[in-house]
Amino acid sequence: MTKSIRTGWNFDNSYARLPNSFYQCIEPTAVQEPELVILNTPLAESLGLDAEQLNSKEGAEIFVGNSIPEGAAPLAQAYAGHQFGHLTMLGDGRAVLYGEQLTPSGERADIQLKGSGRTRFSRGGDGRATLGPMLREYIISEAMHALGIPTTRSLAVAKTGENVVREALLPGAVLTRTAASHLRVGTFQYAASLPIEERRLLADYAIKRHYPDLETKEDRYLSLFQEVIKRQASLIAKWQLVGFIHGVMNTDNMTISGETIDYGPCAFMDVYDPATVFSSIDEQGRYAYQNQPAIGQWNLARFAETLLPFFHEKQEVAVEMAQKELETYGELYHRYWLNGMRSKIGLINEEQDDKSLIEDLLRLMKASGADFTNTFRALTLAKTEETELNKVDEFSHWYKKWQERLARQEESKEDVYEIMKRSNPAVIPRNHRVEEALEAAVKNEDYSVVNRLLAVLANPYAHSSEQDEYAKLPEPSSLPYRTYCGT
Ligand code: AMP
Ligand code: MG
Repeated sequence: MTKSIRTGWNFDNSYARLPNSFYQCIEPTAVQEPELVILNTPLAESLGLDAEQLNSKEGAEIFVGNSIPEGAAPLAQAYAGHQFGHLTMLGDGRAVLYGEQLTPSGERADIQLKGSGRTRFSRGGDGRATLGPMLREYIISEAMHALGIPTTRSLAVAKTGENVVREALLPGAVLTRTAASHLRVGTFQYAASLPIEERRLLADYAIKRHYPDLETKEDRYLSLFQEVIKRQASLIAKWQLVGFIHGVMNTDNMTISGETIDYGPCAFMDVYDPATVFSSIDEQGRYAYQNQPAIGQWNLARFAETLLPFFHEKQEVAVEMAQKELETYGELYHRYWLNGMRSKIGLINEEQDDKSLIEDLLRLMKASGADFTNTFRALTLAKTEETELNKVDEFSHWYKKWQERLARQEESKEDVYEIMKRSNPAVIPRNHRVEEALEAAVKNEDYSVVNRLLAVLANPYAHSSEQDEYAKLPEPSSLPYRTYCGT
C-alpha cells in the first residue's frame, strides 16, 4: 500500500491478489490531449482525494490513464454474462481498474476508468468511449445517488483529445467510475468455468468485501445468496418507486454489492405506462419497467447456479435450497415496494387495503396519461388540479378515499407532508433536459448546462421554487425517446 500525500491516493489492490485467471494486468492506452471537463469535488473529498490538486493538468493525465497514480495496479476484469438471455464471455473491453481507494471513513472504493483503451476482452471494439454517453452516465448516476438509490458513482470525465468513430466522428472521453466493487453476477458466471477452488476464492472474496459479518458462518455461501437477494429486491423496488428504467439488466450488469451499475440505455419514465421501454435494442421489451422485478429474480437464479456446489454436496439438495431462497425474493420485493408506495402517498401506518388504494391510483395515472414524477409531486404539494388525473372522473372518488385513509392515521398533516416530501422527488434527470445538457457540452464545449442540471439534481427532495423549471415536461414530440447501449 502506498499513500500519495499530495493528491491523496491510497490504493490497495485486493482484487489483484485473486488468481490471475480473474483479470488481465494492463495499463490504459495513452491518449493525445487530456482535458478534464468535470470533477466531482464532494465525491473526491469523501474518497480522501485532494480535489484542488486533481483539478489540474496532472489530474487530467490521471483521469485519462496517461499517468498512473501511485500505488495503482491497473487490470481489466474478466466476467461473463447473460445478455438478453444468452450467455456470453465478456470482461472489461474498454475499462481498467486502477485499484481500491481506502477512504478516510474506512471504506474501500473501486476506481475504474471507462473508455481507456483496448484489452484482451475487447473483441471487435475499439476500447473507447465518447463524451456524450460518459457525461450521461455522470449525470444519471449522480442523480441516482442524490435520490438515495445505491449506485456506482462518477468521479470525473476527461476528454482524450482524440476522435472516436461511431455514427460520426465523436470526441473521445474517459469516465472515472467508483463502486463498492465491480463484482457482478457475471463475475461468478465466469468463475463457474474455472476450477472449483478458484470459484470458492471469489465467493470468499465477495463475502469479505461486502458481507463481512457472514465470514465466520458455517452456511456462509447460502447466507451470501440471501443477502444479495435482499439487496437486489430493495434496489429494484427503489427503481420502480422513482420510475427508473435500467434498460439492460443483463447478469453482467447486476452487482453483488447491490449498487446500480451500467448507465447505458437507462432513462426515467415520464408518462406512466408500465410497458415503457427506451432502449433501441430491447425490441421484445424484456427490460420494460414492469418486467424489472421479475428479471431481478431471473438474474438471481443465474447467480444461485454458480453457488450450488457450495450450498450442498448433493446437487438435488443444493437446488432445493436455492429454490427456497429464491422464493423469498417476490415477497421481499413486494414488501419494499409497498412500503415505499405507502410513503409516497403519505401513509405511515399499515392497512389491509393500502395496496388496492395504490393500484387504483396507478390505474388512473395510466388511464389519464399522467407524468409519474409530477403526479406524486402534485399530491405532495396538494396541487392535484395541475395533474392529468383531474381529467378522469374517478379521480375525485379516489381522492376522497385517500383523504379518509389519511384521516384514519394519528399523524398530523405536517408529518404526512414531510414523509411525502422525502419520498417524492421534485426533479429527476428528465430526458429532454439531459439531452439539452449533452448537446451544449458536445457541440459547443459549453459545460454550464450540465453543471446547472447537476446542481438541481443534487437536491431532488428540496421542493423549492428553483426546481419548477426542471419539473416541466418537454414540448410534445412525434418521436418516442430512444436510448442506446455502449456508445
Ligand atoms: P456494456 O454495454 O457497457 O455492458 O458492455 C458490454 C461488453 O462490451 C463489455 O464487455 C464491455 O467492456 C464491452 N464493450 C462495450 N463497448 C466497447 C468498446 N467500445 N470497445 C471494447 N469493448 C467494449
Ligand atoms: Mg456492462
